[in-house]
Amino acid sequence: MLDLGRHAWDKPEPFRLGQQQEITLNILLVGAGLSGAVIGRKLAEAGHTITIVDSRDHIGGNCHTERDADTGVMVHVYGPHIFHTDDEEVWNYVNSFTKFMPYKNRVKTTAQGAVYSLPINLHTINQFYGKTLRPNEARAFIEEQADKSITDPQTFEEQALRFVGHGLYAAFFEGYTIKQWGVTPDQLPASILKRLPVRFNYDDNYFFHKFQGMPVEGYTPMIAAILDHPSITVKLGTTFTAADAEGYDHVFYSGPLDSYFDFELGRLGYRTLDFEKFTEDGDYQGCAVMNYGDKDVPFTRITEHKHFAPWETHEGTVCYREFSRAAEPDDIPYYPIRMTDEKALLADYITLAEKTPAVTFVGRLGTYRYLDMDVTIREAMDTADLFLKSETDGTAM
Ligand code: FAD
Ligand code: UDP
Repeated sequence: MLDLGRHAWDKPEPFRLGQQQEITLNILLVGAGLSGAVIGRKLAEAGHTITIVDSRDHIGGNCHTERDADTGVMVHVYGPHIFHTDDEEVWNYVNSFTKFMPYKNRVKTTAQGAVYSLPINLHTINQFYGKTLRPNEARAFIEEQADKSITDPQTFEEQALRFVGHGLYAAFFEGYTIKQWGVTPDQLPASILKRLPVRFNYDDNYFFHKFQGMPVEGYTPMIAAILDHPSITVKLGTTFTAADAEGYDHVFYSGPLDSYFDFELGRLGYRTLDFEKFTEDGDYQGCAVMNYGDKDVPFTRITEHKHFAPWETHEGTVCYREFSRAAEPDDIPYYPIRMTDEKALLADYITLAEKTPAVTFVGRLGTYRYLDMDVTIREAMDTADLFLKSETDGTAM
């Protein structure tokens, strides 16, 4: 969120908790993804009238799931989504709208002619180096491989070389990262790699979070349940432009920040994804996500969607080959690039956003940050609470 606490509507008497007079605000939310749904629900429950628009013909934003018409497989339309969090309140929140099944993300990678387990764990290390090391031996061995001349890693490449050494870096990270980001890892911040652990045991769970799961019928029914409130109206196939804010007391905007300002300062860089869908009989790769580390394989990974719902049985299977490239103006923005140039431009857009008090910029696109679903929900809840508090405190203007 970029802007909170000051709003442009003009009310003679600010609403305060406990007063007889209740003011129903007319609020517009742009985007029917998790950000819009969670904020909309909280504000609707507080008595406000909510309109949510989305340019797509479905709710759910990038978390949207739907069943493939031919096979019945539940497909993660905008790429694989696994729910994982340490935030118990967020976990209870999502579970109050849908049933979650236990699900652990166990990713494999094909590199240099073999299949390995990710994130790098004891199995990966032993298999890659043809050894039978125990945890402490592996730790010492990997420390021998590490480039100890790097004392304060700044780039992705330095971080990888310092912590796993050249062999594992070249096999698992270098090629994949070039394909994913379109630049060499020495131009990327170390923080991207810090998302991935290295484990000296056989734990191959991709995430460390306490709560992990998959909504039994996919994410879209969960988001539909969040939106199911008499004070919420959703208009699909409706693209918002800044002029549409007219007549609303406040706008929460989860579309791209630069797009709101009609790109007047320039375009923030994004990577987009192309999914090449194919269907087969039976089981294609035996797991949900197979990464491809080699540079000469043009895609980054293959997702086989039915493995996200192992409690279901399907004869056929649906797979997505995933290709990453720089987003052109009409492409779906997926990953904010946040290189140095973008950071400077972002700072300028934040300044513009701060001068637009009638709009609160939220979510992954509105704040131009990589946000997992749980963080998106947490921020949406906090944004709504802060907004309601500013109302009751009379701090809104
Ligand atoms: P979005 O879902 O992007 O929703 C924004 C909505 O706004 C869209 O529906 C868009 O159509 C609409 N919109 C934009 N502009 C306009 C406009 N002008 N007018 C009308 N509508 C507009 N998170 C996890 O926790 N686990 C994962 O495994 C995971 N995997 C991911 C994989 C990929 C490939 C990607 C890209 C993301 C992944 N995420 C994952 C992150 C997750 O997708 C986000 O946390 C979540 O979608 C953010 O929700 P949002 O509502 O902020 O944005
Ligand atoms: N990464 C890699 N090889 C892999 C998987 C990930 O080099 O097999 C790098 C890549 O740069 C990616 C980053 O690690 O952007 C973070 O990985 P994660 O799986 O968290 O990617 P995301 O969920 O963002 O697609």
